Amino acid sequence: MIEARDLTKVYSGKVAVDHLSFTVQPGRVTGFLGPNGAGKSTTMRLILGLDRPDSGVATINGKRYAELPNPLRTVGALLEAKSVHGGRSAANHLLFLAQSQGLPKSRVDEVLDLVGLRDVAAKRAGTFSLGMNQRLGIAAAMLGDPQVLLLDEPVNGLDPEGVLWIRNLLKYLATQGRTILVSSHLMNEMAVTADHL
Ligand code: ADP
Repeated sequence: MIEARDLTKVYSGKVAVDHLSFTVQPGRVTGFLGPNGAGKSTTMRLILGLDRPDSGVATINGKRYAELPNPLRTVGALLEAKSVHGGRSAANHLLFLAQSQGLPKSRVDEVLDLVGLRDVAAKRAGTFSLGMNQRLGIAAAMLGDPQVLLLDEPVNGLDPEGVLWIRNLLKYLATQGRTILVSSHLMNEMAVTADHL
C-alpha cells in the first residue's frame, strides 16, 4: 500500500503539490489523473524519496522509501524511460541493476520475457524505439519482483499495440495482488485501464 499524507512541495514559490492525501490499495490499478503540470511526477518523486516534501509524509507499506531494507524488492518505478545508458545492451543494463541490488541473475531473463524483449536483449538500448524503452523501464521496475509499482505516464508516445500491452500488463500485475499507481493526463486511457482513480 502507498500512503500520502498532507504532501506539499513548493519550487521557488510555485506550489507543485498542495496538501495532497491519498492511499493506493493493493489488488487494483489506481490511476493518477491530471493535466500536464498538475504535480503527478513531483508526487511520485516524493513517494520515492527523490525529492523532499515541504510538508507531509509518503510511505510504502508503512515505511518511508529511505527506511525500506530492500527498496527494489519492495517497490519498482518507471519515471523516465529514456534514462538508460544508450551504449549498454538491454540485458547488461538489467544485469547491472540486478547486481547492484543483490538480485539473482536469473531475474534478468525473467523480466525480459515478461516485457517481450528477450529477442533484442543483446541490442544496445540507444537503438530502441520509445516503446521498447518503456518495456525496458518496466523490466527494470519488475527486477526485484516488487509488490508496489509506480509508473509515470507509461503510455506516452506509444503506438496502439504498446498502449494495449501496458494496459493488459498492469491489470495482470494487479490481479497478482500488487499495488499499482499509474499516472496519465489521458482521461480515455485511464477510463479503460484504472479500477480506481
Ligand atoms: P505533471 O507530472 O503532473 O505534469 P510535474 O510534477 O512535472 O507535473 O510539475 C508540477 C509543477 O512543478 C509544474 O509547474 C512544474 O513546472 C514544477 N516543477 C516540477 N519539478 C520542478 C523542479 N525540479 N524545479 C522547479 N519546478 C518544478
